Amino acid sequence: PDDVPESKHLSALHRLFGHKNFRPLQWRIIGSILNHRRDNCAVMSTGYGKSLCFQFPSVFTGGVTLVISPLISLMEDQILSLKVANIPACLLGTANVQKEKTYKEISENKYRLVYLTPEFCAGERGTELLHEWSNTLPLTLIAIDEAHCVSSWGHDFRASYRKLGELRNLIPDVPILAVTATATEKVRIDIIKTLQLRNPQFSSTSFDRPNFYFAVNHKSDMPESDFRKIMEHRGSKWKFSGPTIVYCITRKKTEELSAMLEEMGLNCAPYHAGLHIKIRKETHEKFVRDELDVIVATIAFGMGIDKPDIRNVIHYGISDSIESYYQEVGRAGRDGQPANCISFYSNDDFRMHAFLRMKGCKNQANRERKERMIQFVHEYVETDQCRRQFVLKYFEEKLDTSNRDTCCDNCLKIKLHTTNSDIYTDLDENGKYNFSTDARLLLSVIDCMNCSYGMMTYIHVLRGSKQQKLEKFFRFPLYGAGKGKSEIWWKELGNLMVRHNLLTRSTASFNEFATLIEMTDAGRAFLLDPKKELLTHPTQEMLPCLRSKKNIW
Ligand code: ADP
Repeated sequence: PDDVPESKHLSALHRLFGHKNFRPLQWRIIGSILNHRRDNCAVMSTGYGKSLCFQFPSVFTGGVTLVISPLISLMEDQILSLKVANIPACLLGTANVQKEKTYKEISENKYRLVYLTPEFCAGERGTELLHEWSNTLPLTLIAIDEAHCVSSWGHDFRASYRKLGELRNLIPDVPILAVTATATEKVRIDIIKTLQLRNPQFSSTSFDRPNFYFAVNHKSDMPESDFRKIMEHRGSKWKFSGPTIVYCITRKKTEELSAMLEEMGLNCAPYHAGLHIKIRKETHEKFVRDELDVIVATIAFGMGIDKPDIRNVIHYGISDSIESYYQEVGRAGRDGQPANCISFYSNDDFRMHAFLRMKGCKNQANRERKERMIQFVHEYVETDQCRRQFVLKYFEEKLDTSNRDTCCDNCLKIKLHTTNSDIYTDLDENGKYNFSTDARLLLSVIDCMNCSYGMMTYIHVLRGSKQQKLEKFFRFPLYGAGKGKSEIWWKELGNLMVRHNLLTRSTASFNEFATLIEMTDAGRAFLLDPKKELLTHPTQEMLPCLRSKKNIW
């Protein structure tokens, strides 16, 4: 009986929030709070509408909900939209100006929602007030937004969140709703334990975002050409398919890429925590109003942005966990229309994250945990299986991917390559090519040349180039041994071998702009063990180099 809302709930929903109906999980949660005062732990994908779950109960009953959230800007946005709907709400952060006045109004039950920072709750005055309110106010609910922050298994652990466990002792009889957009099972268990939830009802929306297309590319040395691959040329300008966020790992990179895209004819701005809050706000607002095509940001940008029509989230530099990656791309396509989640990565990104881990993470156990988390990112970029399935499996969700051409680059490739198998004699039935012989040839040349050159020099030697500067290699046994294949073939194979961790790029000690190609330990092992194989899909660029059945006729 209480699994459907009554007409009094629906009319309040319509009158106060302007919605016709609750979404199924919204009512499951709200109903359990109103009818059973039950604790809840909810994992809701971005855009599902979690705010309603904690806003509706107290607005409906005339009580008060305490909302704890990590970001002031996020709370301010919500308070603003509540004000527009004539729902009184206030915020208690650490730096309030008119605190005493607000405390008084709260005690007079003037507010339906009281937003609090976790620091405020943990502080001395905060603790006092919470205790007082638990006796004097008609508290309906305590909502903990972004609840994954309580867990050190999550990607965004905050010490101030840990202390929220005290809430249960301070205010023992009010239901708690813990809600987040991303949480693995470990994180969920941690949330329930830390916040002392009692027999909580667990709800979860599917993590799948069917409108997303996932792709991963290797960074080239030229960001501009990387970006051109995913843009269109119109008139004399380059364009994205719609509003776009580009994420980078460092602040410096956001500035560089923003300037580069500006040169290409786009309106864009950088966004990172080093910029003044006023500038950040302005940038955000311009983006929402479509006065900017692109925001080039560090992960400081995102929580709480409410723009439904973001068409591309591009990571130029890979995330340090699948959780944060999925939360970042989750900002795209909230309107349900197609959106692209495209990553560009290089091994340098992983090195950069390792450096940041060393610098930022003093606790050994935490560092190792972070290392394990980024290992999944490594697997994500390297997989030749469905990327959507990979991510969903990470969040312990099964997916039926039948017939999804627009799923990810790998699904698209598999689709193309099965037909390729019919065309090219050199491919096996899965469209894969056996690169073992060529890979060994390239590795041998690199080994003989002491791993001290760039890719093009190795290729010129392999293909027997007559360039004068290569003279010292003319008598070399492998000189010209790869003549039968084109330059493009070898270049693509080189990149492929970097992706498969047989080769690695490094910066030359004599010139920071020169990239050397070296053999990895795995590459050396591959060279020494004739049983090892490199069997994988050729890139599009390689296809013209293959023998096709048509030629046989
Ligand atoms: P998130 O889960 O990302 O915090 P929000 O609470 O910001 O999501 O809600 C996302 C969007 O969905 C908002 O524009 C909100 O108005 C809309 N929304 C929420 N609940 C409903 C509903 N029951 N019916 C229609 N739209 C809704």
